[in-house]
Amino acid sequence: MQIIRAVQVSADNYANTSFHQGIKSPAECPHCDARDGLKALGYYSRNVTGAKRGVLRIFVRRFRCRCCGRTVSILEVDPIVWTKKRRI
Ligand SMILES: [Zn+2]
Repeated sequence: MQIIRAVQVSADNYANTSFHQGIKSPAECPHCDARDGLKALGYYSRNVTGAKRGVLRIFVRRFRCRCCGRTVSILEVDPIVWTKKRRI
């Protein structure tokens, strides 16, 4: 499961400042609702297009629930900046 949180950060700033390291876990597991059961598991990478430097590699933080063992990843993005524009 992936949770997307709205914050104001550009893709360039996300990549340049290691923004992913400051992302906090949810208070409750979205699978089993256990409180404070999520433990940091690591990161996985995704490529995004930045406004200044072209393709950037960003890291998405992942957590594992101690109670149910399932994982959740958290991506914090600016929905206005990061939304793909469709051409008709
Ligand atoms: Zn759980």
